[in-house]
Amino acid sequence: MIRTLLTGIKIWKHRGILWPLKLTAAIAGNRIQGFPRGLIVEPSQECTGKCSGCRRPENPITLTPEKLEGYILGRPARPATIHFAGKHSDPLSSLLFPDLVRLAARHCSMVSVSTIGLGLQDGWECLPVDRWIVSIPAATEDTWFQLRGNRRFTELRENLMRLLSVDKSMVELVLTLWRQSAEDRELFHRFAREMGISSLKVVFGRYDPMGNHFGRVGNLALKVPGCPYVLDNEVRLKNEPARCPLTGTLFLDASGFVHPCPFTESSDLSPMKIERSKRERSHSACRYCF
Ligand code: SF4
Repeated sequence: MIRTLLTGIKIWKHRGILWPLKLTAAIAGNRIQGFPRGLIVEPSQECTGKCSGCRRPENPITLTPEKLEGYILGRPARPATIHFAGKHSDPLSSLLFPDLVRLAARHCSMVSVSTIGLGLQDGWECLPVDRWIVSIPAATEDTWFQLRGNRRFTELRENLMRLLSVDKSMVELVLTLWRQSAEDRELFHRFAREMGISSLKVVFGRYDPMGNHFGRVGNLALKVPGCPYVLDNEVRLKNEPARCPLTGTLFLDASGFVHPCPFTESSDLSPMKIERSKRERSHSACRYCF
C-alpha cells in the first residue's frame, strides 16, 4: 500500500497536476463499459536472461506498435494502465520496446515495466516509464549463478544504476525467493541500501506446472517459512487465496491474443466474463497462483 502511494506521488509530480483526474476518468470509463481497466502487454516471446537450460522459442514473435495500437483503439475504453511484462520472456528483449513504451504513454495514465533487468540498451532508461519493477532471483553472484547458470550480476547492478539516474521514474526491486536464494534476504536488503533503492519487496517464486522455467519443483523454496506451496505427491498451495491478484487486467501476448493473465491460455470469453472467471479462479493455472 505504501509502495503504491509513493509511486502515485512520484508519477503525480512528473505527469502534472491533472494526472489523478485523468487516471480516475480512465478507470471510470472502463468500469462504465464493463471492461478490465489494466492491460499487461508482452513485447516479445524472447528473453534477455540467457539462463542455462532454458528452452526458448526458435522463432520468437515480437509485438508491433501497430498491433498494440490497433488493440488499444479497438477497446471501448482506453486502458488506465499499461504494464509491460513477459511470460517466460522479458520486455527488454524487443528492439521495438521504445516505440511500444512511447505509444503506451500516449494512450494510458501509467506505464510500468516488469523486467529481469538485463539487456537495457543505451538510452532506454530515459523512456517515459513511470515505474520500473526489476525482479532478481538472487542477491549474490553465487546464488545468481546457481539459478541462472551465468554471471551477469554486475550487468544487473550497472543497469539498475542507469535506471536510478533518471529522476522521474520509480524503481522498485523485487527479490524472488527460490531454494537456491532462500538465504539471500539480508544480503538483498544490503544490496538495495547500497544502490539507494527504498522500494523493495521479497516474494516467493511461483510454481510453473509446465516445468520450463525457474518455477520447476526443484527450485521452489519449500522449506522457507511462509512458502505458499507444499509438496505432497504433487505441488499444491497450502491455502486457497481469496481472489485473483490480477483481477481488473487483461494480458495481450506478443502475437496479439488476449488472455486472462500471463499464466492462462487464450480464452473466447468476453472481457467481462474473464473478470468474473478470475474471481472464481476457474482456470487450471489458478491452482498454483497465490
Ligand atoms: S492464474 Fe488465475 S488467479 Fe492467477 S493471475 Fe491468472 S487468472 Fe488470476
